[in-house]
Amino acid sequence: MRNIQHFVCGVIPPHILDRVAQHSENEAQEHARSTLEQMRELARTRAQSFVRAESAPKQTALKKRRNVYDAQHQHRLPGKLVMTDHRPRSSDVEVDEAYDGSGATFDFYAKVFGRNSIDDHGIRLDSSVHYGQRFDNAMWDGRQMVYGDGDGRLFRRFTASVDVIGHELTHGVTQYTASLRYTGETGALNEHISDAFGMMVKHFTLGQSAKESDWPIGAELLGPSVHGKAVRSMAAPGTAYDDPVLGRDPQPAHMRDYVETDDDNGGVHINSGIPNHAFYRAAIAIGGNSWEVLGRIWYATLTDRLKPDADFNDLARATVDIAGEFYGNGGGVQRIIAESWSSDGLNVPVYNAPHIPIQRRAARHAALHALPKWRRRPAR
Ligand SMILES: [Zn+2]
Repeated sequence: MRNIQHFVCGVIPPHILDRVAQHSENEAQEHARSTLEQMRELARTRAQSFVRAESAPKQTALKKRRNVYDAQHQHRLPGKLVMTDHRPRSSDVEVDEAYDGSGATFDFYAKVFGRNSIDDHGIRLDSSVHYGQRFDNAMWDGRQMVYGDGDGRLFRRFTASVDVIGHELTHGVTQYTASLRYTGETGALNEHISDAFGMMVKHFTLGQSAKESDWPIGAELLGPSVHGKAVRSMAAPGTAYDDPVLGRDPQPAHMRDYVETDDDNGGVHINSGIPNHAFYRAAIAIGGNSWEVLGRIWYATLTDRLKPDADFNDLARATVDIAGEFYGNGGGVQRIIAESWSSDGLNVPVYNAPHIPIQRRAARHAALHALPKWRRRPAR
């Protein structure tokens, strides 16, 4: 057994809620304040690091296990069990969406990477819906998903975006793998990993190619009165919303605009725009499905290369290295990834392709492209 670091991460960052709490009228202000207070309370109650039983045998059979609870507008978690894999579907849309979204995320990690749930040991995915009163957030609290209903004006129900569910559960994957800290540039890297994988969960679930997607995070969450398209935009960081109440999307897309701040754990939801943009550019340049080439490289980076204090440079270097290992040094994929990083201000050298005799190269190519076991199963 060992302690695992974790944190409470909400999809709606504190800088947005702070702004609403300070700049809006009565009701919205009240909801934002109450959401911030409820988040602080959650963080307090979940502040203890939890332990994982590492001695538990690894489950080799990929089996989805999901529970959904109804918090019944209280703050006690998880609440009343309302849906499991053995029960019929619920008539409550939040319950169904939380169930389907955690299932979609499980399927993505299982089918694309052969990963058995977020801990790779088959841990059950628990979600609680209807948390608190008009709670304006969705979050991974270190053990489970927690969803508020939203206030109905600025934000709708928080189960509606599958990329947000993928984002939050990916914080669980990060917790069990690279265990990235949640402050400053490392925290922004942590947020980027969740955005990139959350977006890939959406692409995979909808069967959407990189070019077919608009790359918004949380497009379904914004309420009818908000001037904006999403909570963040991977395609164009800084343009997701511009609203009298929410303010303007503060995300940069280039290192020269890196935001130094004490807010938001040192701008973790702000500076993530920089690697998000590089990821988007690389995905568009490579074409096809985001999860196939980039997903494979980013997954190997997260699970095998990043240390808990990694920064953007470490990420850029690791992805370029792995692109070389998987797809050839000096090859097209590696060059595209290196160029995407350098156009956002992170320069990574690309090595010239080493001379590999033709036969060895062919053998290596075959080995790299051999399908993993799970892929050989009949299609769904
Ligand atoms: Zn997050």
